[in-house]
Amino acid sequence: MNGFTVTFLVALAIAVAIEAWLMRRHLAHVQTHRSEVPEAFRDRITPEAHRKAADYTLAKGRVSQWSRGLSAATLLLFTLGGGIEWLSTFWSRVAGPGILGGICIILSTLFLMHLIELPIAVYQTFSIEQRFGFNRTTPAQYFKDMALQAALSIAIGAPLLALMLWVMERAGSLWWLWAWAILMGFSVLMSWAFPTFIAPLFNKFTPLQDQDLKQRIDRLLERCGFLSKGVFVMDGSRRSGHGNAYFTGIGNNKRIVFFDTLLSTLDHDEVEAVLAHELGHFKLKHVLKMLVASAAISFSGFALLGWLAGQDWFYTGLGVSTPSHAGALLLFLLVSPVFTIFLQPITAYFQRRHEFEADDFAAGQTRPSFLISALVKLYRDNANTLTPDPLYSAFHYSHPPASIRIANLSAKS
Ligand SMILES: [Zn+2]
Repeated sequence: MNGFTVTFLVALAIAVAIEAWLMRRHLAHVQTHRSEVPEAFRDRITPEAHRKAADYTLAKGRVSQWSRGLSAATLLLFTLGGGIEWLSTFWSRVAGPGILGGICIILSTLFLMHLIELPIAVYQTFSIEQRFGFNRTTPAQYFKDMALQAALSIAIGAPLLALMLWVMERAGSLWWLWAWAILMGFSVLMSWAFPTFIAPLFNKFTPLQDQDLKQRIDRLLERCGFLSKGVFVMDGSRRSGHGNAYFTGIGNNKRIVFFDTLLSTLDHDEVEAVLAHELGHFKLKHVLKMLVASAAISFSGFALLGWLAGQDWFYTGLGVSTPSHAGALLLFLLVSPVFTIFLQPITAYFQRRHEFEADDFAAGQTRPSFLISALVKLYRDNANTLTPDPLYSAFHYSHPPASIRIANLSAKS
């Protein structure tokens, strides 16, 4: 066993143990507070809604324990268990050792790993979401979506991989710099193309009809100096009862999208407050900061990969006997999350700071009480728990827990 195998196994064991420990704490905390609505919410959330949120969190949490365990086992099976080694031998016999063979190795590994985890995803949708009244999709729709996603992944992923593998082969020792530049260009292209070409394959987007609401939104956009290609309503209710709102696209191709489920529960004041929060992320340059940060992180990732790809121990330590470009890309993709999980609390901390800033921005643009009542409705209707474990939420939550967020907003009013 080489030293890297030991490092990998130790990191994986620590990651799995920390995740399992945090989840156990979280579920115990939610269970303990199941029967009592927190003081600050007593006049807005009924005991029934509070218990439903607890039960939903517990059911999802238990499944995610299983799912994390299975992911770790699958990762071991494909690396040290010889899965990638076997697929590499198979594909180099069938498709040759070149770029085509490389693409086949990567895509077939990702496909098989996905297939192993599919039963849990199906269970989540058709058992848990169903039981709590959130699921609106049918098995036929579900598998149609999956087939479409697979086809898109191949249509978009295969050319990208071909380009990457070609650069690895031809660009000399600084190939990783080119590969990074290609990936950056590709993600800009995708953010531009997503709202117009990809999202409409899955959902219907209709321009917002409600003229009164539309005028208020236009006024808000104008106040904030925000240019967009329009406000759309998405038929999210076709698949799920969960509601949301988001921005999509870049440059002059930006769109604002509301789920129909969200518009059906929030009044105009609340919709405006939610939108003002999202605009805050743009005005305060959170979107740009996040883009720059992720470009910097992927730059160091590629530099590391450039070095690792030339080390024999990187392959043999992960159960692959012959170094190859496809092997380097694939192993890096699969194994780096085991190490980067320890950065998760840091990213989450910065994201939560951004959420507070966007809340403050929204409070200044509309009224704090509008955002508070919108948030309470969103927590209630999505059955999100109001009582997460403090350590669990510090590690995982990209948004501050409801009680802290609302306390911050109340202080502004
Ligand atoms: Zn936000």
